[in-house]
Amino acid sequence: MAVSKFHPCEAIVEAWNAGQRIFGENRPQELEKKMKELPEEIVKGAEFHFLGHLQTNKLKMVLPYVKMVQSIDTVHLLEEVDKWCVKNGKVMDVLLEMHIGAEETKQGFYEEEILDIMFNAARYKGVRICGLMGMASHTDNEETIAADFQRIRNHFDYVRDLFPENKDFKELSIGMSEDYRIALKYGATFIRVGSKIFGPRVY
Ligand SMILES: *Cc1c(COP(=O)(O)O)cnc(C)c1O
Repeated sequence: MAVSKFHPCEAIVEAWNAGQRIFGENRPQELEKKMKELPEEIVKGAEFHFLGHLQTNKLKMVLPYVKMVQSIDTVHLLEEVDKWCVKNGKVMDVLLEMHIGAEETKQGFYEEEILDIMFNAARYKGVRICGLMGMASHTDNEETIAADFQRIRNHFDYVRDLFPENKDFKELSIGMSEDYRIALKYGATFIRVGSKIFGPRVY
């Protein structure tokens, strides 16, 4: 996936013309604005995934446009996305964000919380739980990063084995510009690459 956050529509068009089809965005306002500005061919033809922190009062700025929300990090958010989708006749692909990195990033679920959600997955009619997403520790130490990816991979395998009837649970979204090569060794099915494709972001 090409993470186009903070880059203008022209960058997305250029990537589209080069054959890129999956894009990641992380801010509701920016996503909504881009959907209005991009050529219809891209809005309809590309897949947009949401990766950022999502407040429940901003669902309507995001959910109409995306194929997948990769950053489900609370049960409350999962339930609100589910409700919105049921109401709007949509079924949304989602990933559960797992807390794997250093302690300072509090985002994401722990292993037990993911299991609790999976035991209750049948109650959600508006979402398909397609797998896990994680961000490794922000460090140059490759062993630390590998240990983070090993942890999420282990839990991914564990959940898959525990719920074999859940055929949607098959995506493991790990790896960014600086660590995607390591992530691929741990079975990433999505890597989320921003700056290595589009250059540095200007905040
Ligand atoms: C910004 C972002 C990325 C891409 O980061 P790069 O280091 O530029 O590749 C990947 N995943 C998430 C969740 C992000 O917010």
